[in-house]
Amino acid sequence: MSQESNPSAATGGAQVLDGKATAAAVRSDVAAGVEALVSGGGRQPGLTVVLVGDDPASQVYVRSKDRAATEAGFRVETVRMPADSAQADVEATVRRLNDEDAVDGILVQLPLPRGLDSDAVTELIDPAKDVDGLTKDNIARLVLGQDGLVPCTPAGCIEICDRHGISLAGKDVVVIGRSHLVGKPFAQLALARNATVTVCHSRTRDLEAHCRAADVVVAAVGVTELVKGSWIKEGAVVLDVGINRGEDGKLRGDVDFEGARERASAITPVPGGVGPMTIAMLLANTLETSRRRQGRG
Ligand code: NAD
Repeated sequence: MSQESNPSAATGGAQVLDGKATAAAVRSDVAAGVEALVSGGGRQPGLTVVLVGDDPASQVYVRSKDRAATEAGFRVETVRMPADSAQADVEATVRRLNDEDAVDGILVQLPLPRGLDSDAVTELIDPAKDVDGLTKDNIARLVLGQDGLVPCTPAGCIEICDRHGISLAGKDVVVIGRSHLVGKPFAQLALARNATVTVCHSRTRDLEAHCRAADVVVAAVGVTELVKGSWIKEGAVVLDVGINRGEDGKLRGDVDFEGARERASAITPVPGGVGPMTIAMLLANTLETSRRRQGRG
């Protein structure tokens, strides 16, 4: 990366990409978009979250989504269902929400309690309301390069790059992790940005060698500090998606932040990097679906 887009490179330390500030900027753009939609005669965008069971982490996520969406001017509703809900009842809820005109975005909070088939529930969501971008229709669109809804975390990684003038075009990008939620969709987005993409995973033979050759490393694994600082090429960009809680209660990423920042040109911290971008992109997706559904896209 050029020093022009990274003033701190000259001093040897990476530019720390502030996900909190970037997410706040996205949320403020979304709030302005909601205001413009409504003042132009449109309807207030509506987001409905389906929360099944009482998993504490899910409750926290849902509360933050609710707060952020309300602040951005959305109409927000959370449908709470008991942990022992039948598959048919959860599916009936999704079908009902598909039919409600005022609902622009449907998010089923994952994971669902044991015994429920989350793939079947996800697949029922109307692709036009699938703000998590997890239905087959939206995945196919992503792969085919067609307009659709993109999963929020990988979309957040791209947004953080865009808003810091970091281009992926022509870069050797190494994505560690091949989940449907992060690794695979990020790889598709990076390909669409003309990167040369390598996807590494638990069976990759020499992860270190792949990382050492990468211009951009995206770590989405869930293993604390799996990626060592010494593996990062001088001047590379590091996007750390991992969220791992240590025994000391502190959150850490998949990358050794202190080691990597000595060599990278730009790096996202954990917490405060990619994490806050996820909800911001959920709001951006919901505004987009609302505009499209109201014929104001
Ligand atoms: P996942 O468990 O579905 O996938 C993990 C991937 O890592 C798998 O593809 C696996 O092959 C790979 N992997 C496992 N061990 C490996 C190893 N030793 N070397 C190389 N690859 C290995 O996880 P996920 O849902 O993609 O999430 C990954 C991480 O990102 C987790 O820490 C999760 O908490 C975090 N996450 C953060 C956000 C956010 O908002 N920032 C959103 C989703 C996930």
